[in-house]
Amino acid sequence: MILIDGKKVSESIQEKIYQEVKELTKNGERPPNLVAVLVGDDPASQTYVKNKINACKKVGFQSGLIHLEPYTSEIKLLQIIEDLNNDPNVDGYIVQLPLPAHISQQKVIEAIRPSKDVDGFHPMNVGRMVLNLPTYVSATPYGIIQLLEYYKIETSGKHCVVVGRSHIVGSPMSILMARNTPIGNATVTLCHSRTNRLNEITREADILIAAIGKPNFITRDMVKEGAVVIDVGINRVDDNSNPKGYKLVGDVDFEKVKDKCSFITPVPGGVGPMTIASLLKNTLLARKKVIYG
Ligand code: NDP
Repeated sequence: MILIDGKKVSESIQEKIYQEVKELTKNGERPPNLVAVLVGDDPASQTYVKNKINACKKVGFQSGLIHLEPYTSEIKLLQIIEDLNNDPNVDGYIVQLPLPAHISQQKVIEAIRPSKDVDGFHPMNVGRMVLNLPTYVSATPYGIIQLLEYYKIETSGKHCVVVGRSHIVGSPMSILMARNTPIGNATVTLCHSRTNRLNEITREADILIAAIGKPNFITRDMVKEGAVVIDVGINRVDDNSNPKGYKLVGDVDFEKVKDKCSFITPVPGGVGPMTIASLLKNTLLARKKVIYG
């Protein structure tokens, strides 16, 4: 079994980005600038945003945080988005999800200018991904593709089973794996909560990608001998031995599954760090105007 070290791969990508930013700014050019918009005080969202801002600093990007009260109105948020769309010094920005229930997530995503949508959530960028056109691929699926590439994991002709069909992870992941690209060309099955006989399907997976949001959901009997297992889940479970009172676990019962796998990602330290590296990569593309000119 090979443990996929997302932290190491992420750091090597960030080092390359740092070198590229150094090159870019050598002649007085402005570094890439990423802004994060956070509405409310959800602790997990605060941590994710903090990590993204810290990563920006590490690679030499400019960054900004717009932290709004939980009761911020939709109109106010849409106005802020409009300002960000029109600010020539902002290359890309993200609106951290989930948003409070009184704000339409879809309206907000569609208000983001596609050329600044470094999360790759806008329908235009999703559509371009489906059509295999240059785009900002959403950060978590893009991070997984880069992990598969780094570890030279064969995907062509393999049966890839994705469990979870969210717009930000499962659905784009299934599309990327089926595309006619070097990391792709897999035969993909996309499963969700209405899937019948899930165990039988996951047991057929050469590559199993779990993006469910349920701790330890994928058990040993659901995994084929020699499978590649990618665990996207980040779940907080109570842990009195931890000073924080909780620990993070994935969607895969790692301890019981690991010795059956050829490759497996840990949680934390697997997919999570790659999400940040991908976001930085997309922001650099935005700064260089690679996708939309
Ligand atoms: P969502 O809650 O949006 O989607 C979960 C998906 O899992 C849904 O499609 C749902 O099906 C499916 N599902 C739920 N229960 C079952 C079941 N019993 N059997 C089969 N499928 C089921 O979650 P996200 O995609 O946003 O996130 C998934 C996990 O990944 C979470 O733990 C999240 O924290 C983590 N995450 C990690 C990231 C990282 O950087 N590592 C980034 C983003 C998310 P249905 O559609 O039918 O409801």
